[in-house]
Amino acid sequence: MSIQTIGIIGAGQMGSGIAQVCALAGLSVIMRDIDDAAVQRGINGVTTQLERAVSKEKITAVDKDGALGRITGTTDLARLAAADFLVEAATENLEVKRRILKEVDAIASPGAIIATNTSSISITKLAGSMSRPQQFIGLHFFNPVPVMALVEVIHGIQTGVDTVARTEELAKRIGKTPIRVKNSPGFVVNRILVPMINEAVFVLQEGQASAEAIDAGMTLGANHPIGPLALADLIGLDTCLAVMEVFYRDFNDSKYRPAPLLKEMVDAGYLGRKTGQGFYSY
Ligand code: NAD
Repeated sequence: MSIQTIGIIGAGQMGSGIAQVCALAGLSVIMRDIDDAAVQRGINGVTTQLERAVSKEKITAVDKDGALGRITGTTDLARLAAADFLVEAATENLEVKRRILKEVDAIASPGAIIATNTSSISITKLAGSMSRPQQFIGLHFFNPVPVMALVEVIHGIQTGVDTVARTEELAKRIGKTPIRVKNSPGFVVNRILVPMINEAVFVLQEGQASAEAIDAGMTLGANHPIGPLALADLIGLDTCLAVMEVFYRDFNDSKYRPAPLLKEMVDAGYLGRKTGQGFYSY
C-alpha cells in the first residue's frame, strides 16, 4: 500500500524541513512537538521557507498554499496514529529518543514504518527496545533538508528488507537520492566528513597553515564548496567534537582521537557561527 501520511516527531530545524519536502511532494503531514510554541515555530519556519521559494520563482503560490494545507501541527501524540510512515526528528539524546520511540511504537498503526533521523545513535540499539524492530529504520536527512539531495537509509540488523525498499521508494518520491548504508557509527557521510574536519584542526594546531590557508587549500585544491574549518563553524564545534568522541569510543581506535584544539575551543565556548566565534569571527 502506498504511503500517504507522514508523522513527524519534532518540529525543529530538521523536522520542519522534512515536513516541507513531504508536503510539497503531495503527502499529508502531521508534525508533533511538545508544546504549542514549538509546533508554531516549526509551521512558521515552513511558511517562511515556502514564501521565499515563491519569491525566487522556484514554486508557485498555489504550490505553497497546497503544501501548507497538507501540514497539521499538533502536541497530541495520538494524532500520529493516522500516519503510515513516521520520522522521529527530536533532540539528539539516546534516552529522549528511546522514550519517544516507545510512545510512538505503542500508538502507531500496525503496518506503519518508524524511522529516526538520528545523526549518530545506533539504529540496532534503538530498534532493540521496540516491538516492531523489523519496521524500524534510519532515514538520515542533511541540513538544510529542502536543499540537500542526499538521504542515508540505514538498516540495523533487525530491519526488514521490505522496510528498506519502502523507505527508499519514499525518499525518491520526495525528491531525494537515497544511499543504502549498514548501521555503523556516523553511517557514511559523517564518518568521512568529520574526521576530515578534525584533521584540518590538527593542521591548524600544528601551525602548518592559517585557517584561511587551510580552507583555501581545500576549496581551490580539492574543489570543496566550503573549507573544513568554515564548515566546522557552520555545523557547530560541539557537534563535531561529540561525533569524534562517538567514533573514538565506539571504534576503539586512536585514529579518531579528537584534536586537542577542538576540545579547547569547545571548552572556551567558541562553538562557531551559533556563538559568533569559532575558527572565524561572525
Ligand atoms: P532541534 O533542536 O532544532 O529540534 C528538535 C525538536 O524536538 C525541538 O523542537 C524539541 O522541542 C523537539 N522535541 C523534543 N522532545 C520531543 C518529544 N518528546 N516529542 C516531540 N518533539 C520533541 O534539532 P534538529 O537540528 O532539528 O535535530 C533533530 C534530529 O535530527 C537530531 O536527532 C539530530 O541529530 C538530527 N540531525 C540534525 C542535523 C542538523 O544539521 N541539525 C542533520 C541531520 C540530522
